[in-house]
Amino acid sequence: MVMVTSKKDVQTLSAVEGDIWAEFRQIERLNLSLTQTYVHTLGKYSRFFIELEHQRLLATRCATCERVYAPPRPLCPHCVQPTAWIELPGTGTVETFSVLHFSPGSNADVAALPTPYVFAYSLLDGASTLFPHLLRCAPEQVAIGLRVRVQFATEAVEHPIHLIYFVPME
Ligand SMILES: [Zn+2]
Repeated sequence: MVMVTSKKDVQTLSAVEGDIWAEFRQIERLNLSLTQTYVHTLGKYSRFFIELEHQRLLATRCATCERVYAPPRPLCPHCVQPTAWIELPGTGTVETFSVLHFSPGSNADVAALPTPYVFAYSLLDGASTLFPHLLRCAPEQVAIGLRVRVQFATEAVEHPIHLIYFVPME
C-alpha cells in the first residue's frame, strides 16, 4: 500500500433515507501547505530599510507642518507635500501594546519568535506618529509609559524590518 504523507482524517457523514449522495458521504480531509514566493518592492520606503543595515533609524519630516513620520511617509497626508529624510535617536515611549500568545508565522523572522511576545506602539523621540514594532521584553515588564530604545539585530533576517526591534531602556 502506498502511504499518503500529509496529515489527514477520513470520516463518513451519515446519510438520510433517499439521499442521492449516499455513495459520496465518505470524505477525506488533508492538511496541505501552500508556499508562494514573489517579488515585492519597497518603493519610496526603500531608503528606510537600506539605512537600517547601516544601523541608522530614519523618519521623514514635512517642511510645511513640521510633522515627523516614523514609520516614514514619502508624502505628508496633511499638506500633500513630499517629505524629507531625517535621522531619529532611536528612543521612545510605549503608548499601547499587545501581548501575542499566537504567532502568525508570516515569515521566517516572525516564525522564529517564541511566544508570548510583545508588540508595542511607541512614540519615538522626535516623531509625531506611533511606531508599531516588536518589543523584546518579558510580557510582565511592558507598560504604557515604558521607555524603550531601538536595538539593531546581530543575526541574519529575512525581511529588513527585522533588522531592528525595541528593548526597554535600563
Ligand atoms: Zn505637512
